[in-house]
Amino acid sequence: MTDVQQYAFDYQCPEQALANRVILVTGAGDGIGKAVALDLARKGATVILLGRTQEKLEAVYDQIKAEGGAEPAMAPVNLEVARPQDYEELANLFEKEFGCIDGILHNASILGEITPIEQYGYSTWETVMQVNVNAAFYLTRALLPLLMKSDDASVVFTSSSVGRKGRAFWGAYAVSKFATEGLMQVLADELENVSNVRVNSLNPGATRTAMRALAYPAEDAGTLKAPSDITAPYLYLLGPASTGITGQAINAQPR
Ligand code: NAP
Repeated sequence: MTDVQQYAFDYQCPEQALANRVILVTGAGDGIGKAVALDLARKGATVILLGRTQEKLEAVYDQIKAEGGAEPAMAPVNLEVARPQDYEELANLFEKEFGCIDGILHNASILGEITPIEQYGYSTWETVMQVNVNAAFYLTRALLPLLMKSDDASVVFTSSSVGRKGRAFWGAYAVSKFATEGLMQVLADELENVSNVRVNSLNPGATRTAMRALAYPAEDAGTLKAPSDITAPYLYLLGPASTGITGQAINAQPR
């Protein structure tokens, strides 16, 4: 195990470690994204909550405010249909509001079908690629100028075990996660030594969420970690403890 992986597992985030950082989380209304957004706010970050279901974003917003966190921002965006121009407009809004962005957690994804390639639906394939890959590229590209303005920015892409070793029937989801790893590696290499932006990927591992239940309907969800149990490596990668770490593919849980 690498030192970075060990640090990520063992990380205990100090109070206010994320203070004065503006961090955008996609898919912040539910599952892992929600748990990470709440913990980022608990550690002092100003969180931009991006997701497609306004009511879910509002619930997370209200919880952060009720816990005394910094005023979050909400960005209701459907990644399936948003076009590059929409992300440019968002970037302009964020620039006016915050000046710079210190982190992005690309967390939102969809599963698509669990089925052989031979029968995989064409339109499902395109939708999975749009949400899981193209949207992450559009958002990253639009926000790069704002990340460059930060003294210490971190981009985290969410991977999966099937994005590191392909497995039968995981179709577009697995392929999208390989593409995610590729985007992470290319971007990390481009930005290393010429910017303050680091770029890494994180595989959350089996976690009790709606997506996991969809993928494994017969599983006893009680045996799985809850999203709130696995946030430490996210805080590590998005906060100051990982400054200088880039191009790494990390796991949030031991396998
Ligand atoms: P989840 O519970 O299904 O949550 C996914 C989030 O993404 C939801 O908030 C959802 O919004 C949002 N989202 C989906 N489609 C969107 C769209 N078109 N536009 C905007 N937002 C959209 O999934 P999760 O398990 O927390 O997964 C989080 C990440 O971890 C994903 O990248 C997933 O691939 C990865 N992962 C999860 C596991 C696991 O065991 N859970 C394992 C490996 C990797 P709504 O709530 O509004 O639908």
